[in-house]
Amino acid sequence: SWGSLSDKNVYDWSSEDEEPDGRARPVQVLLVKDDHTFELNEAALSRILLSEKVREREVVAISVAGAFRKGKSFLMDFMLRYMYNHASEDWLGDANEPLTGFSWRGGSERETTGIQIWSEVFLVDKPDGRKVAVLLMDTQGTFDSQSTLRDSATVFALSTMISSMQVYNISQNIQEDDLQHLQLFTEYGRLAMEETFLKPFQSMIFLVRDWSFPYEFPYGQEGGMKFLEKRLKISENQHEELQNVRKHIHSCFTNISCFLMPHPGLKVATNPNFDGRLREIDVEFTNNLKVLVPWLLSPRNIDVKEINGSKITCRGLVEYFKAYIKIYQG
Ligand code: GDP
Ligand code: MG
Repeated sequence: SWGSLSDKNVYDWSSEDEEPDGRARPVQVLLVKDDHTFELNEAALSRILLSEKVREREVVAISVAGAFRKGKSFLMDFMLRYMYNHASEDWLGDANEPLTGFSWRGGSERETTGIQIWSEVFLVDKPDGRKVAVLLMDTQGTFDSQSTLRDSATVFALSTMISSMQVYNISQNIQEDDLQHLQLFTEYGRLAMEETFLKPFQSMIFLVRDWSFPYEFPYGQEGGMKFLEKRLKISENQHEELQNVRKHIHSCFTNISCFLMPHPGLKVATNPNFDGRLREIDVEFTNNLKVLVPWLLSPRNIDVKEINGSKITCRGLVEYFKAYIKIYQG
């Protein structure tokens, strides 16, 4: 069925709609086709978000976005491990356990631009007693040519519009073009939304992978915040364009933060037989993972999705998803 991707613009969703063994897995819900049109897999989206267990629950939607081959799925698999181990102390698990989840397609994964969601929506008890539904989304773009930049902008905009937290996964540093991309992407999103006095989006996390200047700004969230402040600072002697990008980003999100992650080590980056086991990952990386994942996902830290100040249920999210995609389908 994935082979059908290569016949231009013919995409067979049917295989995605079946879960023969009943096991949770990533499901492609939005696909950008070769002719740059978008296709929403409404059946799969409904099956997952309108299941009786979750449909009336308020939804926390966590998205990870960014270019290909920068470790997004690798990170999401650790997020899944945290969710499946119910945020317990030793959620990271056994040192020899291979990593599974979004990356189960391994090296054969096609470089599609679009949005995948995890087919299991997790129910989590917040400390205040509310039970919320947590949805994990893996978003991919190419960012490499003008035509695909527009596709990526739409995918990024959509995922930002429907998530309560967008994790912008970037490699090594926050470059000026990462900020320009973010401006373009969020401008796409803002144009499609009703104008209100509220900021249109909730939380934006800059996640910098392979950070290699810990002596300047230490790994983690505090070092990340100091680094981000420096990068997003607006000063009068800056070129107007640089000032505008920064003002725009500040005006779009209620919360903006940053986390600096160390390099995971050469086995992770280069060994084709690496299966994700902790034993082969640099301990500095694992130590920071133990901070990052609970910081993103712990029951006290997760926020319900709000649109125009109202909390959204899983059912509501499906409606918004459909409405937003219509705008881009023109
Ligand atoms: P995605 O396309 O962004 O989802 O990237 P993947 O999660 O599939 O990872 C692509 C490759 O990068 C795999 O070989 C991973 O083992 C490797 N990788 C994962 N995390 C990192 C990281 O933090 N740094 C580096 N350098 N490589 C990573
Ligand atoms: Mg991936």
